[in-house]
Amino acid sequence: MSMDVKPLVLVVEDEDAISNFISAILNANGYQVMKTNTGKEGLSMATSYSPDVILLDLGLPDIDGVEVLRSIRGWSKTPVVVVSARGHEHEKVEALDLGADDYIVKPFGTSELLARIRTALRHSPKAMGTESNGIEKITIGELEIDYSKRTVFLSGEKVHLTPIEYKILTLLSKNAGKVLTHDYIMREIWGLYAGDSHTLRVNMANLRRKIEANPGAPKYIVTEMGIGYRMVER
Ligand code: CA
Repeated sequence: MSMDVKPLVLVVEDEDAISNFISAILNANGYQVMKTNTGKEGLSMATSYSPDVILLDLGLPDIDGVEVLRSIRGWSKTPVVVVSARGHEHEKVEALDLGADDYIVKPFGTSELLARIRTALRHSPKAMGTESNGIEKITIGELEIDYSKRTVFLSGEKVHLTPIEYKILTLLSKNAGKVLTHDYIMREIWGLYAGDSHTLRVNMANLRRKIEANPGAPKYIVTEMGIGYRMVER
């Protein structure tokens, strides 16, 4: 990462305690922070300052966070991590389907916050132009995926996957660290109108049987209950 320009994070959050906590962590870890407690001001700051990442609370006093997101996505691909309350799965899925990059649930800790920001930055349109393209191989723990040869090895042993299982693994691993919704995965693998989540679950179960030592407690692909799946980063 370049040392001269710190990534700018816009924090749109109306709870001062949370907003201050986020700012302190980000400032201490090499980010610049701008913050606001309303959706309206958040939108105008997103336009004026072109932040690298936006951290967006979904429960704002003036405009609903989902509406703020919808508006941002009308003109910008800036990564957005939504901040949500525990249990609001429907709201999170809606935000992710509207183009949020990830979500974080209150209360969250330092390492989780930093991981979400780092992943969002890595998958940002700016970063995609450089480091993310052209990756031929990825190693996560004992799992090695070679995209150019279309091979998968686990602890040095070749893993035999069906074309669908390989596509799912490729999609998740190229987005390692980031949550992908059920709908998103199904659209990417089966196309726009392939709406049967049972097929995805069956394929995921088979894939996990092949790459996980204990499919009941997966180490590589974790389930985000009610939302989708996330491949770990390393
Ligand atoms: Ca709030």
